[in-house]
Amino acid sequence: MEPFLGGGEGSQRYGNPSGSHSIARDAVRALDEARERIAEALGCRVGEVVFTSGGTEADNLAVTGGMPPRSGSPVCSAVEHPAVLEPTRALGGSTVGVDRFGRVDPAELARALSESDRPSVVSVMTANNELGTVNDIDAVAAVRDEHAPGVPLHTDAVQAAAWLDLPVRVAAADMVSVSAHKLGGPKGVGALVVRDGVQVSPLLRGGGQERGRRGGTSNVAGIVGFAAALSASVRDRRQRAERVAALRDDMARRLVCMDGVEPTVDDPSVEVLPGHCHLLVRGVVGEELLLLLEYSGVCASAASSCASGAVGGSHVVEAIGAVDPDVAPLRLTLGADTTPADVDATVDALADAIRRTTGARAGTP
Ligand code: PLP
Repeated sequence: MEPFLGGGEGSQRYGNPSGSHSIARDAVRALDEARERIAEALGCRVGEVVFTSGGTEADNLAVTGGMPPRSGSPVCSAVEHPAVLEPTRALGGSTVGVDRFGRVDPAELARALSESDRPSVVSVMTANNELGTVNDIDAVAAVRDEHAPGVPLHTDAVQAAAWLDLPVRVAAADMVSVSAHKLGGPKGVGALVVRDGVQVSPLLRGGGQERGRRGGTSNVAGIVGFAAALSASVRDRRQRAERVAALRDDMARRLVCMDGVEPTVDDPSVEVLPGHCHLLVRGVVGEELLLLLEYSGVCASAASSCASGAVGGSHVVEAIGAVDPDVAPLRLTLGADTTPADVDATVDALADAIRRTTGARAGTP
């Protein structure tokens, strides 16, 4: 990324790719190469990649259809990220219930599509960011084909992209959101894949960049970093996923042995992303548990991490019917760098945190 950020020796590659002079050409080439690498990794055509400022913008563009919005109203699953839920609500759309693992229920989706006057888009995430559960996008597309033929299908693959074989998993979707920072890339850059023939108007109007689908000078350094991160992620995906899933399974096995700790997804046949471990901890106060874990160096959360550290209720836990005042949801995620020692430390930290919170309330020091 460095040469494109400008300054020092790299400043000769600091050109604006929308420019026509010679210094722009380097930036254009870098942008073209990055687009090719990203298209290959996502299994789409080069012209189908629309660079955005991240997953949120990609989701907003897909769900609204741009500005002016598509006619009709969006239909999305109840456990979508707020970047999908909020524009859906703003446009008077509806949400579809999920099963107790957070996966969209095909019968519910069929009902919602038949009841909706004029669905403008169907949006179902590839994998949920809190629970890690994976949706079958082919099955969702089949329901769409039967009950709302011709309505574009969007999938938010932001959380899934680092772990699943996206070209296969999302082949049936008309639009796919991805974000670089979920793959080890820079924050503030992502893309929406818009398949040929699917209409979107730009949300941001300006210089007509991204083939008229997103105005604004391209974030060349960010896009170059995104392409490098995505290529690297695809290259080692299989081994990384196996290694992290084994660590996660070992951690989950040890954690659910503790009193009051249960796995939220308690059916081993349900596919969960390799790095996700979602638990329900009985008899503790969620905020206390998170604080104690943090003191021990374990950064966990109760819901998604988007609300700037706020500990609020989780719409995902609510949608799966797991809200219980005596139970604290706990989301632990492992990444590419997680080690067996991290897992040991997490197991010790949770045991200690539970002992302390329950002990404190029982009056023991
Ligand atoms: N969608 C999902 C499923 C996410 O997990 C996130 C971020 O956590 C987003 C969208 C938003 O992406 P970004 O942070 O790039 O705006």
